[in-house]
Order: sequence, then structure tokens, then C-alpha cells
Amino acid sequence: MNSNRNKWNINTKLNHPVEVILHEGNKPLVQPIYQSAKFAPTENVPYWDQFIYSRVSNPTTRQLELTLAEIQNREDCIVLGSGMAALTATFLALLQSGDHIITFRELYKPARTYIREFLPRYQIENTVLSLSRIDELEAAIIPGKTKLIHFESPSNPNLDIADIDHILAIARKFGVLVSMDGTFAGLHQHTGFDIDVMIHSLTKFANGHGDVIAGSVAGKGQLIKKIREMSIYIGATPDPHSCYLVERGLKTYMLRYERQTQTSLKIAEFLSTHPKVKNVRYPGLLSHSGHELAKKQMKDMGAVIAFEIDESVALSADKFCHQLKLIQLTVSIGSTESIICSTGLFFAQDLAPEDQREMGINNFSLRLSIGLEDAQDLIQDLKQALD
Ligand SMILES: *Cc1c(COP(=O)(O)O)cnc(C)c1O
Repeated sequence: MNSNRNKWNINTKLNHPVEVILHEGNKPLVQPIYQSAKFAPTENVPYWDQFIYSRVSNPTTRQLELTLAEIQNREDCIVLGSGMAALTATFLALLQSGDHIITFRELYKPARTYIREFLPRYQIENTVLSLSRIDELEAAIIPGKTKLIHFESPSNPNLDIADIDHILAIARKFGVLVSMDGTFAGLHQHTGFDIDVMIHSLTKFANGHGDVIAGSVAGKGQLIKKIREMSIYIGATPDPHSCYLVERGLKTYMLRYERQTQTSLKIAEFLSTHPKVKNVRYPGLLSHSGHELAKKQMKDMGAVIAFEIDESVALSADKFCHQLKLIQLTVSIGSTESIICSTGLFFAQDLAPEDQREMGINNFSLRLSIGLEDAQDLIQDLKQALD
């Protein structure tokens, strides 16, 4: 204990609380939350190899990054304040003015908006293709200018499956980097693909309990280093407490994901047989156009289902959501509670009517994320609302 303590007055004592130091080898099984903005460096190690300021690095955050890199089979990982921060930091770090990015209309709406509306401010141009016409990818590449291809699989909100081998082959041919947003598939999938950077919204399956916003980018060490350098200036730093909660959530990640996948298949099958439901889109169903590709690329088919209700059921998809008593109307996915929302209302208003039509998004289309409730209770709730 600091020998000066007994001379200190109350305000000094309150602002320098007693330090509790553990004996060497006396370890907590769960690492403490380093809820500190600053760390006093030791003289004996170069300052830049130590933790000094939590916008730059923090031990709780670092533990989560190491967990995420390890389970995704990637060299390194950076955790940021949201999935969107992970996306924007990646784009800003890997692209410069004069560059060109290729992406797909089957994309999370805020990501599509950022690429289309905000990157052009930095003279970063874009081409937006369709995952269903992947053969147009090669022709869209502008040699020397195209630097990044960004895609999702399965895509938000309609569960389209990207042909990853094809995208990688074209990218390698032209020396273009590939970033994938794997949020819908989860952290344990696509780990064998040579994706340059894999982005996840940790808000979803990773944390899994609906009480944290965070995001991550995992991939090649040199690229993560660039993103880290950029992120220090963007400042979209996650709070150590959020990182602790994600680390805690991850302990049950596989259990949750497995159960949610099993329940999802049951719900998807129920919906497919209901006379007032159309176009059920779940990669685990034989009827899904991407089923074969999904089986090749994924171990588990996920916990998000898209479908359309018949016009006789409700005035709109949104009105239908209000007829449900258990399943909650809100955005987001990958939580303990099942969640539903209208895809037309929340995810497509920036898309041309022609694109919406081709993508199967309309006034009656829905996205349902399956939680940890019992399957029969969810089916009962859907049944009462449909009937
Ligand atoms: C939710 C989501 C994001 C954004 O993540 P936030 O943590 O909400 O910022 C990005 N991509 C996909 C596919 C998502 O579903």
C-alpha cells in the first residue's frame, strides 16, 4: 500500500482508491473488466508496447479480439463500437480517393447507403451488382481502380447466398481485396475461405442477448493493422464493459446457434406448409434458390427466415407484426427473443421499385429472427396471427 495514504485527505483518498494486488498465480477464472481509460506505463517496457489509452487499446477489448481471431481462423481482429463502425473503418482504411468498390444490392441498408451516399464524398466510386447475376462481376472490375469487393452471405434481409469461390477467383485474378459481412451466418462459419477481411456485427449472434452494440473485423494481419490505425482517429472505440459482455455471451454462442438453427428449420417448414404464406426463404429449405450453394459453404443454415404473407391475412406486413403476441416487432437479429419486422419498411426504401420486385421485397414481406423460445410456442403465435 502507498505509505503516504494515511496523510491524505478524503478527496485524495477517494480519487486514488486502494489497489488490490493478487499474488502471482492467484488468478480469477474470468478476466476482470479493465474499465479504465488510462494505464500508467512502466519504465521498463517501451511505452508503445503497453496499454496507455483505451481508445487505442485495452486488455478487456484485446481479449475479445484474440478470441474472435482464434475462432474465425484469422491472423488478427479489431473490435469496434458497432457493426457499422467495423464496416466504415474498413472502407476508409482500405480505400483512397480515386478508388472503386464493387458491392451488391443484397446488402444491409445502412452499409449500402454508406457506400452509395458517403464514399463518393471522398471520390470513392461504386458499382452495385446483384448476387443473382454474379456473372456480371468480372466486367464490373475497373483494372487498377477497383480495390475492394464487399458482400454479405446470407444477405440481410432476404437470405441470398453469395458464390464465395467465384467472388474470390475474380478478385484474385485482378488483385482486388475482398471483404465479407458474415453477420447472418455467424462467427463459426466461412472460416476456411480466404476472405481478406471478415466483418461481423457483434450486436447479433456473438453477444446474442440483445444488450450490446459492437462490431469486429478479422483477417490478414497487415490489413487489420491498417484498420486499427484508421480506427484510432475515427474513435469508434467499444467500451470495455461491452467487450466483457460479448466475451461472456460467446461462451454459449454454439449452444445458442445450434438451438436457434434447429428451431428455425421447424418454423421455416411450418411456414412453407401454411396456405397463407408465400416465398419462404430459409437457406436450409430445399426450395431456397441458394440451398445447394449454402450446403457447400455453410455448416449451419442460421436463424433468420424471410417470407411473405397473403394479402388476406393483414393490410400489410407491418400490420401483421402487430397481430403477433409473443414474437416482438423490432429490428435486429440473433437475440434470445424472436424478432420480426417488415422488410419493405425497414430495409428497402432506398432501392428502386424494379430492384425491390426482383429481390422479392414488397408490402407483405417479412424478416423473422428466431430466438430461444420453444418452437411450438412460436408456431402457435404465427398460427393465431395467420388464421
Ligand atoms: C446489424 C448489421 C450490421 C450493423 O451492425 P450494428 O452493430 O447494428 O452497427 C451490419 N451488417 C449486417 C448484415 C447486419 O445485420
